Amino acid sequence: SKEIRLILGDQLNASHSWFTEVDTNILYVMMELRQETDYVRHHQQKILAFFAAMRGFAEALQNAGHRLLYIRLDDADNQQDLVANLDHVAQQQQCSRIALQYPDEYRLQQQLDDWLNDSDYQVSWYDSEHFFTARDALKDYFAEHKQLLMETFYRQLRRRTGYLMDEHHRPLGGDWNYDKKNRNKLPKTTSIPEPLCFANDVSDIAEMLDRMEVDYFGEAETKKLLWPVSRRQAKQLLNHFLSHGLADFGRYQDALTERGWSLFHSRLSFAMNCKMLSPRYVIEQALDYWQDHQEQIDIAQIEGFVRQILGWREFVRAVYWHYMPDYQQHNELQAKRALPDCYWTGNTRMKCLQHAIQQSLTYAYAHHIQRLMVCGNFALLCGIDPDAVDNWYLGVYVDAIEWVELPNTRGMSQFADGGIVGTKPYAASANYMHKMSDHCQDCHYQHNKTVGENACPLNSLYWHFIDRHQAALKDNPRMKMMYHQWQKRDPQEKQDIIEQAEQHLANINSL
Ligand code: FAD
Repeated sequence: SKEIRLILGDQLNASHSWFTEVDTNILYVMMELRQETDYVRHHQQKILAFFAAMRGFAEALQNAGHRLLYIRLDDADNQQDLVANLDHVAQQQQCSRIALQYPDEYRLQQQLDDWLNDSDYQVSWYDSEHFFTARDALKDYFAEHKQLLMETFYRQLRRRTGYLMDEHHRPLGGDWNYDKKNRNKLPKTTSIPEPLCFANDVSDIAEMLDRMEVDYFGEAETKKLLWPVSRRQAKQLLNHFLSHGLADFGRYQDALTERGWSLFHSRLSFAMNCKMLSPRYVIEQALDYWQDHQEQIDIAQIEGFVRQILGWREFVRAVYWHYMPDYQQHNELQAKRALPDCYWTGNTRMKCLQHAIQQSLTYAYAHHIQRLMVCGNFALLCGIDPDAVDNWYLGVYVDAIEWVELPNTRGMSQFADGGIVGTKPYAASANYMHKMSDHCQDCHYQHNKTVGENACPLNSLYWHFIDRHQAALKDNPRMKMMYHQWQKRDPQEKQDIIEQAEQHLANINSL
């Protein structure tokens, strides 16, 4: 071979310019690695979905005539290390030219850089041709703006792409953002679309993981893996979302219910994060669909969907690359507590938490508000060490890759970055849960009680959080009202609340 081209497990982009022509001088290399199965303890479905998608992608490239070497996890000469395998292949092929796409994870960029610094390969770097923005997008942003805001970043991208813009470069409908219309509780009578689940037989991969003693957790139906593992399935899932989810996407985006597990969400994150679908394709299909169905789908729904992908998804990636590697160390609120056991078992009498965690263990999925306001909020209120929180999130969700997991978890949900991603901590008491969900109805705990028997732990823990972080948060304009309320309270009442919270924290594994 004249050139070896590496394709990482999250670079399954069939539309990449690498693949426009068949060149038999090029050897594509893909590999399953212990390095990747073991860098964190993953949910079983996450490993299965990645490996199945990789195997399918390799087969499709081979069928199209490309030369490709696929190293399986159990191949005898697999060194289980990315660069050791590359050395081995290069030696076998007597090839010194290596082509790489920029990885999206910092640890992989570092590993590749360290390796290349010590070797004589001729290296060419390529873009992954997936995102709208470059990894260093915040450099340009900060040249123009002082304050980092998702909304500003998003508007730049709306202007640049012309999505949802009129001919005078103004936002369609007159507003940039319809988030205020996106905060409805789910009415009892509203029916929820049946999620489209695939039934991929991945039992051979599951069997291999067991044979190799890969340590994973969570449930999986290995003959019926529900996640899309090919571009064809990913497109089917997108179409399903467009016809069943988009019309109510924004409206119930923040709703929490026990009546379903993915509500009106698209569940496209895995397909996009491994690059089977590009964000451009997803957005443009959604815009086309909306154009043809404007009587049924109002602008708030489509704008909400576009904002998540064009805004949030690009934004968190830009944050990640701008602030790494320091970002990973931030612990602004000095949270140190161990992750409660219920995150691994779902065993807790708090119904909101029980539901969101159990669902995560069953499906390797939770929607945004479950991640942020249920699993995340509880960890935030309890002051759980952000390293432990990150490891859980990075392992449990099928779509979890560090560039998107880290800013969302450490930043948005735990405020450990001190406000780079969010302008205030997303801390909430049972009041929020009661307003937005149906979890409180037959919960063991009472949402309207703060102290005493069966009082919802979220209430006293909320005030404990407010109290213990007074120094860090009291001047935050968005927190002022809460501090004002807390300061006005009767001292005895405050003390009772703090003691109640401390009792909960001392018994965190039996709540
Ligand atoms: P939908 O609700 O249908 O949204 C459509 C798409 O918008 C998603 O597929 C996703 O690509 C994008 N999107 C929406 N919100 C965000 C966001 N905050 N950041 C980046 N992209 C967004 N997303 C991941 O892809 N991987 C993660 O590891 C991950 N970890 C998270 C951890 C926490 C604590 C929180 C609060 C959020 C996390 N998110 C993560 C963001 C978001 O929750 C998921 O992208 C979303 O729930 C995936 O489900 P969906 O495809 O049905 O999303």
